[in-house]
Amino acid sequence: MSYKLQTFDGINEPSSLATSQDGLYNTPSRKSGCYVSAKTGFILTFLAMATAAMVGVIVTFAVPKTDSSDCNCGATQAPVVGNPDCTTPSTPSTAAPPPTATCPACPDCPTSTMHTQEMTSTQMTTPDMTTSSPTASPSYRLPTSLLPVHYTVRLRPDLYSKIPANFSTPGSVKILMNCTENTNNITLHINKITYDNSTVKVFDSDGKTLTVSMISENKELQFLIIHVNPGLMAGNMYTLEMSFTAALVDDLAGLYYSTFDRNGTTMYLAVTQFQATDARKSFPCFDEPALKAKFNITLERRNDTDEFRDYITLSNMPLERSYQTDDGFIADVFQETVVMPTYLLAFAVCDFKYLSNATENWTMNTYASKEEYLETAFALEVGVDMLRGFEEYFEIPFVLPKLDQIAIPDFGAGAMENWGLITYRTQYMLYNPNVTTAGTHRFVAVIVAHELAHMWFGNLISPQWWDDLWLNEGFASFFEYVGVNFTRPEWNIHDAFAIENMHPAFSVDSYPTSRPIFATNVNSPDDIERLFDTITYQKGASVIRMMWNFLGPETLRKGLSNYIKRKEYGNVRHQELWQALSQQAMTDGKDIDVQDIMDTWILQQNYPVVMVTFDNTHIRAVQSRYVLGNTSEGTHSPFNFTWSIPFTFTSSQGTNYDNNDIHWIYRNQTEATFDWTNTIDNSNNQWLLANVQQFGYYRVNYEEGNWRALIQQLKVNYARIHLSNRAQIITDLMALVSLDSVNISLALSSLDYLDQETEFVPWYAALGEIGYIRNMLLTKPIFGKFEAYMRMKLETIYGKIGFKGEEGESMNNRLLRSYIVGGACYYYNKNCTEHAVGLFNDWLNDETQLIPPDVKSRVMCTGIRESRSDTWDKLFVRMASQTPSDQAIILSALGCSREHWVLERYMTYAFDDTKIRRQDARSAVLAVIYNPLGRDLAWNYIQRNWNHITTVYEMSGGNINRILRGLASRLTTQYQRDQLAHLRESLGGNSPYTPFFDNALQDVDLNVAYVTKHYAELENWLNEATSTQGV
Ligand SMILES: [Zn+2]
Repeated sequence: MSYKLQTFDGINEPSSLATSQDGLYNTPSRKSGCYVSAKTGFILTFLAMATAAMVGVIVTFAVPKTDSSDCNCGATQAPVVGNPDCTTPSTPSTAAPPPTATCPACPDCPTSTMHTQEMTSTQMTTPDMTTSSPTASPSYRLPTSLLPVHYTVRLRPDLYSKIPANFSTPGSVKILMNCTENTNNITLHINKITYDNSTVKVFDSDGKTLTVSMISENKELQFLIIHVNPGLMAGNMYTLEMSFTAALVDDLAGLYYSTFDRNGTTMYLAVTQFQATDARKSFPCFDEPALKAKFNITLERRNDTDEFRDYITLSNMPLERSYQTDDGFIADVFQETVVMPTYLLAFAVCDFKYLSNATENWTMNTYASKEEYLETAFALEVGVDMLRGFEEYFEIPFVLPKLDQIAIPDFGAGAMENWGLITYRTQYMLYNPNVTTAGTHRFVAVIVAHELAHMWFGNLISPQWWDDLWLNEGFASFFEYVGVNFTRPEWNIHDAFAIENMHPAFSVDSYPTSRPIFATNVNSPDDIERLFDTITYQKGASVIRMMWNFLGPETLRKGLSNYIKRKEYGNVRHQELWQALSQQAMTDGKDIDVQDIMDTWILQQNYPVVMVTFDNTHIRAVQSRYVLGNTSEGTHSPFNFTWSIPFTFTSSQGTNYDNNDIHWIYRNQTEATFDWTNTIDNSNNQWLLANVQQFGYYRVNYEEGNWRALIQQLKVNYARIHLSNRAQIITDLMALVSLDSVNISLALSSLDYLDQETEFVPWYAALGEIGYIRNMLLTKPIFGKFEAYMRMKLETIYGKIGFKGEEGESMNNRLLRSYIVGGACYYYNKNCTEHAVGLFNDWLNDETQLIPPDVKSRVMCTGIRESRSDTWDKLFVRMASQTPSDQAIILSALGCSREHWVLERYMTYAFDDTKIRRQDARSAVLAVIYNPLGRDLAWNYIQRNWNHITTVYEMSGGNINRILRGLASRLTTQYQRDQLAHLRESLGGNSPYTPFFDNALQDVDLNVAYVTKHYAELENWLNEATSTQGV
């Protein structure tokens, strides 16, 4: 799906965007069914940064929309987590291992969920249908005896009563099917749809009715099984028709309703999210990606009152005609679609307005509420540039006559690439120069690029099955950068690829519990949802970028173009991709067996670290597996954890960061030696640097002398090292500390040059690493020295960048500002604090005195930190009248108080929905946890009020999980660990929260070990660093 979210672990102030992500976790509970679908998380790359300077650790993960799920087959509520990555570590290289899947089965569901629906007695004549329980490992795949060819779908999303309990979507479907082998039943998908058996009809190609002898539903498999007499014969076409009523609830899945406020009135709209397995919730269908067909869609709406006069409907294709139904509705009939899978269908019913740009071959429209649609202008402008850019790049035109993009108030993922009707969460599509942060501005372009890339990767060609989901999401994530570069080349967005993709991927791919990109055992909807994770998106994109480098950009481009042309409207497996690329390489005179190389990157988990040594004539490169923690689990690999590594290097003897000379270290070859004629001398601060621009998905280690020479180069003239490699040096070193391959003082000395650094990319990488160290030291005696060190490192750049830039300054500078100002104020830079307080008070006294958007979050936090409760109260009241994104900023800023009782009161407000909306409770609690003064207070509050929080307030399991992980990221002592374990034990062994506690305990264990092992050395290093530099 669509887009993944990167959140970050902020101190007190998740940025506006990070906070807005809260919507992801707090979306309305799905109260039906025994599974929870983890609508993707998605990565929101720089957003978090927007105001989050120094906020530290960047956490990248796909987060499930975890909610307490109410089994409809039992009364017990079981918090469930649908995505193993939901609890990915909150720290970079030193993080806790990603937990194994924590998706407890719905405990009270009877194992037998199959039931036979009543047929008319005369028809119940063929008792050949088993009604026994599904087997232990049921096949969730449909039989292939019938293939859908064409659907006619008619739906009437009925939300006009304005009483959600009365909403529903009556509809009908007619499916033309090709019978490929004899069968006596039609098996297709259905979920949470009611129907009257008498409407189910089956016809042969002559229009003759076949007898339906029995209809049954297997609720676990979500199968509707229609037995037919006589059987269906191979080679013939059949038609199934039925009427039904689908639910229309606010569960963000299938066709659901969403709301927004217009002048105090709640407005309703209906919209879809079908990926991965929820088309079957809207109408019965063959809901697998390879079962493609054409669709004729008709959507009915009302326009007979003033209130609904402006309602429109949208679908994948342009409107063909409209007519009035007998009972007064308007039926909108859309043009027939191209051949496509069910998961890419989309419908919307709303009263939105739009902007439009017609090109020669297609029209792009951007829709939002009439209050907001003008703010879609940027998404439209870059969208047109990028769609044209992709057409040229792939040499394949966009195949539909129109492409709508629509901003949806309640949306589980970030966006969804429905063919011809892309849906976005509202805040990721709107841009207003007066209020939008640099991070959001950039992200709007990034997410549009991602979704438009899907028009080729995913839509024109789709994976044969979800196990190759990375063919969609890895490519869309890679092409974000290519797409943005079409329209905003001055943003130099490629430079940020590694920090946004490779580093987060390393972070989750460092543990035995990681998984290969190409997934195995993917069957059930839950299995599928779990794949929308960091491995699919960011590791997928990272290995594609590696191919881009070793094949060469043009070979990759032509190879992909041929691959798509060959398979358009069809389905693909990764083997076909390898074949197309190998062929293109051969055509271009390159002898590269792509499959042989790339299988090592997609069929095994983890990644290599390459130890590089050299003398005057040779470079020796030794590969080994980078893995942390207990390797007894998940140790199987078809390649014995060796990889075919495209090794590259440059050196101080003549730096060349565009050098594309690949030196292969092959799989099953742990060591490779390359001739080398240059001579460098580490003792003269000359150095060798491997993995140029960090194109390769591997880490690098050197002997200490070379590391010291590189670090010295950073100090003397950092510009001689490419900015991607500056970020790499810092992050590789910190990761090697976790392997015990280098000592922490050496790693920390890579930060020394930061007071000179002026580029966003290395700062971003450094602040991620520093954030973890900060969390480890928060309440330690040495923290004052750490603060002083950070003030010192930030002072120069803060002086340069300030609170406001020149008109037309670069995007990277704007992004950097939010970090630097955030960090300077966080670490009590006097000028920063005074300036922030001034801006805050000006705004508090006069709302027209706008705070610059890129620093708003830190300004608010600092304003609250430096004031008393009367100001807090004023801001709390002010919050209600702000825009949603500013409300999110304020919600976090309120956690910045230094008054203990104010924080305690904020905790009570968090769990009182007359004070704070339920969807914001988690953000408020995390804001207190991220305040160093609030951590213990919040934890004590949670322990004292556990029952209230979980059983009276009924906070969702997903939110509890996030709170526990947020807390765990800052716990560093055995005593704190014991407290956490004690609460876990007191809940009993069967508590649904046990897996969350286990994940949190793992984090704390690693923190305790880290502090135990490294504290003394950290202390020495800080003493030295601050004394020698006069702090
Ligand atoms: Zn996507």
